[in-house]
Amino acid sequence: MAPWSHLPDDAMPTPVPPPESTPAASEPSPRGLALIRSEADLAALPASERIRYRLVGADCRFHANDNISEFVRPGETEELKAEVAAKMQEVLRSLVIDTDSDHNTQETAKRVAKMFVDEVFRGRYQPMPSVTEFPNVSRLNELMIVGPISVRSACSHHMCPILGRIWIGVLPNEHSNLIGLSKYSRIVDWIMTRPQIQEEAVTMLANVLQERVKPDGLAIVMEADHFCMQWRGVKDLDSAMTNSVMRGAFLKDPHLRREFLSLLSKKTA
Ligand SMILES: [Zn+2]
Repeated sequence: MAPWSHLPDDAMPTPVPPPESTPAASEPSPRGLALIRSEADLAALPASERIRYRLVGADCRFHANDNISEFVRPGETEELKAEVAAKMQEVLRSLVIDTDSDHNTQETAKRVAKMFVDEVFRGRYQPMPSVTEFPNVSRLNELMIVGPISVRSACSHHMCPILGRIWIGVLPNEHSNLIGLSKYSRIVDWIMTRPQIQEEAVTMLANVLQERVKPDGLAIVMEADHFCMQWRGVKDLDSAMTNSVMRGAFLKDPHLRREFLSLLSKKTA
């Protein structure tokens, strides 16, 4: 039964108790959205369902590595954490872990929920960090390399950590915007603190930088350890994945590409 179907059709928007005290709040709601008739109906749903409703209504994708901050209202991440903690507690129960008497796991569900929403996946729920752009007054047009920037992410297949480094090469022109060095790290962090796929992550990063900086050429190299290869699966402790994105001048000019890559290898040595 849909959580809102107990509401009478012509109900005046009666005061709705907060979601956690609504008996129906823990029931999953179907993706069919036509049954929601008012803001009061919507308010009775758990926060994750409200956010999902807005996303589907706006025809907006919400894959693991998408940022959905535009659809999250103030206070709702706190509600999300409470929801995740309650469900994580059920996961621990299904793993037959006695969280009542095991003092190590008594608060684990809450800790994991906080870790997901506030830390390792916060790049889904928080808007892009503000980035001040400066006009290229000195008309810099030389290759600029930023990195290595530390990457901390997680794979969206297993939610295992991905730890690595990124280098960014920018070839500006006189119309490019310049952004402060620390801002590159902030943008990397914003893209990476989501369940990710390495190839998609570097493409997302390239799209954001292309749009902000508008360079003649953009190159990104990412090298990372995937813990789903090391902690589980083939248990290959030495496997790392490297991939790159080259755009504009870096695609057309092999000398520029070589220069960028040779400067990287010096830095990794
Ligand atoms: Zn994985």
